Amino acid sequence: MSKPDVLVAAKFPPYLMDKLRRDFTVHERLHETDPAAFAAVAPKIRAIACGGESKVPRALMEQLPALEMISVQGVGYDGVDVAAALERKVPVSHTPNVLNDDVADLAIALMLAAARRIPQADRYVRENKWPGGPFPLARKMSGARLGIVGLGRIGQAIAQRAAAFGMSIAYTARSQKKDQPYAYYPSAAALAAQVDFLVVITPGGAGTARMINREVLDALGPEGYLVNVARGSVVDQEALIAALQEGRIAGAGLDVFDGEPQVPQALRDLDNVVLTPHIGSATGSTRQAMADLTHANLVAHFAGQPLPSAVPEWQAR
Ligand code: NAP
Repeated sequence: MSKPDVLVAAKFPPYLMDKLRRDFTVHERLHETDPAAFAAVAPKIRAIACGGESKVPRALMEQLPALEMISVQGVGYDGVDVAAALERKVPVSHTPNVLNDDVADLAIALMLAAARRIPQADRYVRENKWPGGPFPLARKMSGARLGIVGLGRIGQAIAQRAAAFGMSIAYTARSQKKDQPYAYYPSAAALAAQVDFLVVITPGGAGTARMINREVLDALGPEGYLVNVARGSVVDQEALIAALQEGRIAGAGLDVFDGEPQVPQALRDLDNVVLTPHIGSATGSTRQAMADLTHANLVAHFAGQPLPSAVPEWQAR
């Protein structure tokens, strides 16, 4: 029996590509690299495998008349036009939960790195400035007030870790969580006004675009720190740069950026930010687990079995 044709729309690691090639006929990013070859195979393509940052617009789906399934390696899937997929009854899967620990760990690391100025302190030693005098005093994180924007799977994992640092925890989300013990605020601005650290961990997409704007940053104030491990689109990047330049917030730790992998020079020039290149889930074991789940969803679909982790929109249809 011939293997189903799958368009791989992301740069996947070898361990995932090997499994995909074993079970499917793989067309790797052909739609970007070789439009003519893509047009020739497009009618046969039955699934798309892509990453959390991949773009799978309606226009791409319309070129694939045999499309049955989209498997996203990542919990966020804001690049996939899920509404267009659902119209065609094409299920979409993602990889929730397996990355909660890593993303929560990174959020705490960025909070600590920004408040304690770890990268600056590291440079201080490397540049041999220590003999000239001690490193300037930094900001204490333990016992501070934390606000979490988005108390979902990862937000709750961040809260658990923050509790061990003796932090008080409050949050905002679309709805109050009756099963969570933390204080709820109805908006990011109301939350920001009450906390020292504001961590953003919502999905991207239209519903959250530029939610962290000048009003929210000013509510956080000159002693406050912003950490974004969600998506670059959730923060008004120009407003953030201005707030950091003008000292209207104390600092920031950023793993995601609008327009990444390009990061504005103005942001890279600032001394009060810690910048990481979208590494929230980037450990070997977690990426392996994400790859396994991406593959398992495809295999389940073609075996006629329920998907291990369909996106909520598909489950709710
Ligand atoms: P989740 O369980 O679905 O939680 C999302 C949370 O965001 C929920 O509490 C939800 O509120 C809230 N939310 C959604 N829209 C909102 C809005 N308009 N205003 C306020 N709150 C809103 O998702 P998760 O598994 O925790 O993942 C969250 C996101 O993290 C992903 O979608 C992805 O964008 C990002 N992420 C980043 C990395 C990285 O490498 N940096 C890695 C993994 C994930 P309700 O509960 O009220 O619906």
